[in-house]
Amino acid sequence: MSLLVGNGKVVTRDESRPYLAEGCLYLEDGSIKEVGDTKELRAKYPEAEWVDAQGRLIMPGLINTHHHIYSAFARGLSIRGYSPKNFDDILDGMWWTIDRKLNLEDCRYSAYATYLSCIRNGVTTVFDHHASYGAIEGSLFAIADVAKELGIRTCLCYEVSDRDGRAKMEEAVAENAAFIQACAKDDSDMLYGMMGLHAAFTLSDETLKYCAKHKGDAGYHIHVAEGLSDVQDSLKKHGKRVVNRLFDLDILGPKTLAIHCVHINREEMGLLKSTDTMVVHNPESNMGNAIGCEPMLQIFNEGILLGLGTDGYTSDMIESYKVANILHKHNLGDPTVAWAEVPAMLFENNAKIANRYFKKPLGIIKKGAAADVIICDYDPLTPMDGGNVNSHILFGMNGFSVTHTIIGGKMIMADRQILAADEAELMAESRKQAAALWQRING
Ligand SMILES: [Zn+2]
Repeated sequence: MSLLVGNGKVVTRDESRPYLAEGCLYLEDGSIKEVGDTKELRAKYPEAEWVDAQGRLIMPGLINTHHHIYSAFARGLSIRGYSPKNFDDILDGMWWTIDRKLNLEDCRYSAYATYLSCIRNGVTTVFDHHASYGAIEGSLFAIADVAKELGIRTCLCYEVSDRDGRAKMEEAVAENAAFIQACAKDDSDMLYGMMGLHAAFTLSDETLKYCAKHKGDAGYHIHVAEGLSDVQDSLKKHGKRVVNRLFDLDILGPKTLAIHCVHINREEMGLLKSTDTMVVHNPESNMGNAIGCEPMLQIFNEGILLGLGTDGYTSDMIESYKVANILHKHNLGDPTVAWAEVPAMLFENNAKIANRYFKKPLGIIKKGAAADVIICDYDPLTPMDGGNVNSHILFGMNGFSVTHTIIGGKMIMADRQILAADEAELMAESRKQAAALWQRING
């Protein structure tokens, strides 16, 4: 199957040719085979299915490096007696309360709802951090089945924790290990697994050593120093800061995702840098939980590979992009900062992070890259070129601008219609599942 996507303004993220005012892509066997002029490529590939961008923007699919499918059914939920005073109360009263009640069907429908939202927002690759202590075994496989059915690229893990006792911790490690092994046999380049860890303060040294034995070649995906209490707990129980402890236990490394890193110092940044550990910033979540502001610019300037995620707050990466842009100006009282770093995080670093797992180049339009392409309905009111396109995206677009989502050369959404599934039916079923879950939580 081959597609020709043309008659659009092409933003490539390829330094050798960042922008084509009028361009076309030829997609075949899941890859971008050629980038060029619409007329020429239409003449060269007359058999390919023609997708007319009608002058709109053609871009690489977006990548989310930290999401939480399991949190989907929290939308609109009110938990009886829930009155959090701080981040620890939010975790226990909201997120752990939900994840303890999830069954496998809830995981499946949370995955449908979340992945559909990602596709609608032009996100073609999702790194998810999953928890469902009500149904651990098979939960990653249930989510992966949905990802396969919808045709989205995803890297999954289960967040191991001691919070529900030893038996459940071991079951969570076994789920990660089984999933990592299954992914190793899957050569689609659509699915990978990691060893998920909740956060240092819910994991003993013994548990972390146990995880290391079962992780295979995969890296870890862990929340790091998100709240100040994580640091205080680490100092009290282990006499060292969170990143120092993770370093000592060999958790850091080029395949490990350290999420948040809000409360880290210079020495800890040095350890992240020297181990080539990846860090992901989630601005909206950090603000919503009132846990503080990540030293994003310092981490970036240290040369640490820093990406952008959403932490389950939204599936719209452009929303996260907008908030990251203003958060650090606001925090530092300096309107001149973060202009270059935030676009680099979303458009370059998220692709570099994804490509530590996925083999085909992602987040870029060039010959040989994965055919993950979106079309965005945006008619620039001022001149646009390769040099100022990030500003056009920042101030002129959002996730709803996306009209077409193509993943691995397959049209998943066209003219805002999901082609891969019956969306209305899935949403109706998801509402039923969510209502039943809410009843179990409050019942
Ligand atoms: Zn998270």
